[in-house]
Amino acid sequence: MPEENPTLTFNHWKTGEQVTYTLSSGGGASTGEQLLERLHCPYDQTPLVLIRFVYGETDVRCPNCNTHYPSRSTQKEIDLYATVNINRRKQEAERLRAQAGQLEDFVKFAESAFAQTSPSRTETSQDPARARIIRGIAGTD
Ligand SMILES: [Zn+2]
Repeated sequence: MPEENPTLTFNHWKTGEQVTYTLSSGGGASTGEQLLERLHCPYDQTPLVLIRFVYGETDVRCPNCNTHYPSRSTQKEIDLYATVNINRRKQEAERLRAQAGQLEDFVKFAESAFAQTSPSRTETSQDPARARIIRGIAGTD
């Protein structure tokens, strides 16, 4: 019988729901995950997981909130990193908000190009092959 992978149970940082996380035994670029019982995520108190990769690199992350931490850190360093990380995440959220605003502006602009459309743009083609292509592009097939 194959050996079962170790699991970790915690309450999800956002929903509070109980989650059972199964440590990976590898796949793709990863050669597996190992529980770091002496280190925990300062945000949600979940034990951290060490991920080993095929070329020897490692990564430490929280299986709950998915925050990545520097490898080979002490708990004190993890705590310090976590405080700096809040600002970094805040800046990233601001950047993504600005990007989303830009995208929404473009969508409005692009839609306006079709608002006063001449009939020829929405007209279905008389040629059946061409009509099929137009329906395909419009996603109405
Ligand atoms: Zn966490």
